[in-house]
Amino acid sequence: MPEAAGGRKEGALGGLRLTPQRKAILAAVREGGRHPEAGEIYERVRRQLPHISLGTVYRNLAQLSEAGLVVELNIGRASRWDGQPAPHDHLICRRCGHIEDIDIGREGCDLDAIARRVSGFIIEGHRLQFEGLCPACQRRELDQSAHATDV
Ligand SMILES: [Zn+2]
Ligand SMILES: [Zn+2]
Repeated sequence: MPEAAGGRKEGALGGLRLTPQRKAILAAVREGGRHPEAGEIYERVRRQLPHISLGTVYRNLAQLSEAGLVVELNIGRASRWDGQPAPHDHLICRRCGHIEDIDIGREGCDLDAIARRVSGFIIEGHRLQFEGLCPACQRRELDQSAHATDV
C-alpha cells in the first residue's frame, strides 16, 4: 500500500492505526460478496480471531467508518457495510436484500450541479439506490406465478 506523501505515517490510514483486529475486520468487509451485515463480518473475523466479541466488531466498524475506510449503508432492516469508500451507486433487491454496485457512468451526468441549482446547497456528493428485483428473485416470482396458474 503506497504511503501518502506528506500524510500520516505509523501505519495509520485516515488517522487510524491498523491493528490486527481492524485489519481482519476490514478484510472481512471487503471479502467475497460486499455489503455484509455486521453479523456476517463477525463470523468471518472469528475464523481468524476466535476471541473477538461482536461489540468489538461494531466499535471497530464505527471507527473504520469515521476514518473513511468503510461506509455504512442504511438499507432495509440492518446496516450493511461497504468496503468501497469511493462514491458509487447501488442496486438493491427488495425481496432478498441482495446489494450490488452499479456503474451507470455518473461522470457524464452532473446531478450535483442540478441539485445545487435547485436547492442552493453546496453538494458534496450523492448516492443513488436503484430498487427492484434481482434476476434470481425474478425467476422465483416467475416460477411461483407459473405454479399458481397450474392449479
Ligand atoms: Zn433478490
Ligand atoms: Zn457498494
